[in-house]
Amino acid sequence: MTPLVMAPPAATAPAPGGELHYRRCEWCNSATASTHMLCPVCGSADLAPALSAGAGTVQRLLRPSRRGPLPGRPYLVTLDEGFSVPAGVVGGLPGAVPIGARVELVSAEDDGRLLTFRPVPRT
Ligand SMILES: [Zn+2]
Repeated sequence: MTPLVMAPPAATAPAPGGELHYRRCEWCNSATASTHMLCPVCGSADLAPALSAGAGTVQRLLRPSRRGPLPGRPYLVTLDEGFSVPAGVVGGLPGAVPIGARVELVSAEDDGRLLTFRPVPRT
């Protein structure tokens, strides 16, 4: 069991923050989430740590059974670097983050396992 994370006091619109680390394969240059120990493409263990810019695209809604501790609704987010992570998306219309929407990282907690994104306003 993971203890519940207390909401920060006086929360208005959270500023973008947190660092999302990932790994890039030294052999085939594939990007993978930092939770993977081996490259899912070529199986190499030579993965170099890297830091994501935190910008990505909503890929799909996850099944509620996979929600876990994620805040908001659980989505699979594909980062611009080319890897995907399960993450909560907050701040959008209730239950209506469109697939393909651009999102940015708000926070990364629990060593990057608890990720929160928010939609990027269209300009
Ligand atoms: Zn590889």
